[in-house]
Amino acid sequence: MDDLNKPTSERHVCIVGAGISGLRCADVLLSHGFKVTILEARDRIGGRICQSEGLGYTVDIGPNWIHAWTDSDVPHPIFKLATDTGTPLHHWNNKQLLFDSDGNKLPDESTDRLSTTLWDIIADAFTFSEEGHTKNGGKDIASTDSLQDFIRRRAAEVVSDEGERQLLVKMSEMFGAYVGEPVWKQSLRFAWMEECCGGDEMFVASNYSAILSRAAKPALDGATIRLSTCVVGVTSSVAFSPFQRQAVTVTTDVGETLSFDEVVMTTPLGWLKHNHDSVFSPALPPRLTSAISNLGLSQLEKVFITFPSVFWTAPSADKPFPCYTNWLTPHYAESTNPQHWPQEIWDLSSFAEPNNHPTILFYLYGDCSRHIVNSIYGKTPEEKHRFLDDFFRPYYSLLPGYDAADARCKPAAILATEWLKNELNGFGSYCNFQVGVEAADQDVLAFREGCAERRLWFCGEHAAPFEECGTVAGAYLSGENVARKILGVYGLGGEKAQGI
Ligand SMILES: Cc1cc2nc3c(=O)[nH]c(=O)nc-3n(C[C@H](O)[C@H](O)[C@H](O)COP(=O)(O)OP(=O)(O)OC[C@H]3O[C@@H](n4cnc5c(N)ncnc54)[C@H](O)[C@@H]3O)c2cc1C
Repeated sequence: MDDLNKPTSERHVCIVGAGISGLRCADVLLSHGFKVTILEARDRIGGRICQSEGLGYTVDIGPNWIHAWTDSDVPHPIFKLATDTGTPLHHWNNKQLLFDSDGNKLPDESTDRLSTTLWDIIADAFTFSEEGHTKNGGKDIASTDSLQDFIRRRAAEVVSDEGERQLLVKMSEMFGAYVGEPVWKQSLRFAWMEECCGGDEMFVASNYSAILSRAAKPALDGATIRLSTCVVGVTSSVAFSPFQRQAVTVTTDVGETLSFDEVVMTTPLGWLKHNHDSVFSPALPPRLTSAISNLGLSQLEKVFITFPSVFWTAPSADKPFPCYTNWLTPHYAESTNPQHWPQEIWDLSSFAEPNNHPTILFYLYGDCSRHIVNSIYGKTPEEKHRFLDDFFRPYYSLLPGYDAADARCKPAAILATEWLKNELNGFGSYCNFQVGVEAADQDVLAFREGCAERRLWFCGEHAAPFEECGTVAGAYLSGENVARKILGVYGLGGEKAQGI
């Protein structure tokens, strides 16, 4: 037992996990004189921010986007890190190519018009959800209502042509690639918490490594970072008085027991779902165990296909190739996709030199992700390549310029992520708010509050500012927030992090 008057230099905080939230938390605590030890299960820092060389050049297999807010004078922290490090950001050309269920290209005019209508409806859904939340926590919106229910209802009001209405509803499936699960699973009551998807969206044209290095520098310089150290137990107890606090002990996978003044858990939501029962002693309080089960875990996966050179040609120099192509509920690939999962790609060849590679990036979500990863997991590189090429050829072969006999149209390399099989990520990608959730905002708040009385704290993308959950910026701010809460315990300021 100790008291709160010890100098901060003797205060020892353990941060479990060296992802962006843990690194930011360490930065704030170190700058206030705390001693910080980070225990990280992987043999590297960064968590979900990570890269692969599998295509022959470096790509991010986790985040690529920066969803920067535009309605605040306060700079977006990750946009700022990108700017400070000279990380090239790409603004897409806002053009899209759309194929209907039979594989026919839709006229550009209807694609553009319907896309504008769809985004207007989504903006209305955010407003409707936000107003419902402000009024009475969203209770007037049935927890069973989905974002797609709203889109269907509004489309019935504003799109008179039946065929176009159906098309618009199919187009709304693209929201799945934002939240990692289908749009019909997205809670309407908590759609407002996904509003970051409507901000200024930029794509990191190189990769996130410079951003990560800059964010990690204070921790690398000032903290003790133990890699390949997996935490398997955390024992804490309630203080007898606010001035007499018990140490928290952490057990690692090699049987060590380490004592700290405070412990911050940054382990992902999915990891908490699978492990909280066995790791925390005593068990976490009901407000936290409910939050762990109430918040949804999404399944976003990425498949990069790179070709010997770009065969998908722009119609003319003044009309660039659309950045985004969408195959709506395809019915022409029954043997490989009998569930008609929609497909979408982003054209990574449109970046400025030297980041313009002849690569298209498919985003998968929900059951389609699960199908793809389960089909390739544990297979040889050749088997993976064959399966993935067979699965995705019905889509890329519809791009203009495709010719089966042309060597330029045969994938040179294919890289698929396998987050579904990643134990340290809890077998998923990031949190989301699915139909059925009653009070997602309260669940996020429960994480942000943590168990101060037990010196046990939580941060990460699931404890972020409401509209930043599931993002790098949200995780970063959650780390800052928890550090400020700890500062508050020791009478060191403790003002809130931005957006919290
Ligand atoms: C495929 C994919 C695409 C994404 N795209 C975007 C995007 O474009 N833009 C965006 O803003 N966000 C995106 N995200 C989300 C973003 O990556 C996360 O929100 C953010 O990186 C999470 O940071 P974190 O610190 O909360 O968690 P993590 O980065 O997961 O850090 C947690 C750390 O805890 C460690 N750990 C786990 N268990 C233990 C243990 N028992 N002991 C010790 N250490 C442990 C892990 O190894 C990890 O390093 C994407 C995520 C995925 C998976």
